[in-house]
Amino acid sequence: MQETLKPSYVGKLFPPYSDEVTPLRPTSAGAKAGKIFYAVLGCALIGGIVWFIGLMFDWKWVRYAGIALGVWVLIDTIRNMLKSQCAACPYCRRDVGSKSLLQLSVDDKNKQFACEGCFEWLISDGGQIRAFRETDIGNTKEFDCPVIANGVWPNECIVCGAPTTRHLNAKTLNVGLASLLVGRLSVSYGSVKNIPYCDVHEAAVTVKTVDRKIWADFKDYAARRRYLHANRIHRMEAAKQIS
Ligand SMILES: [Zn+2]
Ligand SMILES: [Zn+2]
Repeated sequence: MQETLKPSYVGKLFPPYSDEVTPLRPTSAGAKAGKIFYAVLGCALIGGIVWFIGLMFDWKWVRYAGIALGVWVLIDTIRNMLKSQCAACPYCRRDVGSKSLLQLSVDDKNKQFACEGCFEWLISDGGQIRAFRETDIGNTKEFDCPVIANGVWPNECIVCGAPTTRHLNAKTLNVGLASLLVGRLSVSYGSVKNIPYCDVHEAAVTVKTVDRKIWADFKDYAARRRYLHANRIHRMEAAKQIS
């Protein structure tokens, strides 16, 4: 049913998928130390909150439970982090998995994540990293992507690829328009607010904030990739003009 509703794409942008599959390897000792540092902080926070509640109400067993919880979570997390793995991004070769928040493991089963360098979606499966393809979409309906500061949009309708006839503002979710127009976020918002559409399409992109960064929510994986592709070309051309 939904397949028939999805408009067919008539534009010219077909960003290639990377065919490369890169193997996971253990992260460096330094990366592990960084991850464990954050794990200690997180566990101290969780255990500390429970301990503090026990202190406030003078419930001795809650205080002990807080300490026990913190230690238990810590041991479990450290065991995971010692096994942490990393690999080269199949698109941009940048190291993925060494940063503290992204935890890759040889036990991953089709785990989806995004490269922090090129933002392309990747899959970690059975010790290997590969590109996330149309066949991996399944029931996923939202494809979010960090908004690229000073970025551009493809010069065509973001939905169907037809020539642009109008530019419409993105819908904003969980974020006041006022906070987008001033301050640090305004640079990113300025480059995302005028979204190209044909006469038929609209409202295909929503803007939201996560961790005080602006993200664009696409309804279509291919549209997300065209957005990244247009920005890659834009950066390459800007670099050519400088040199
Ligand atoms: Zn990458
Ligand atoms: Zn269109």
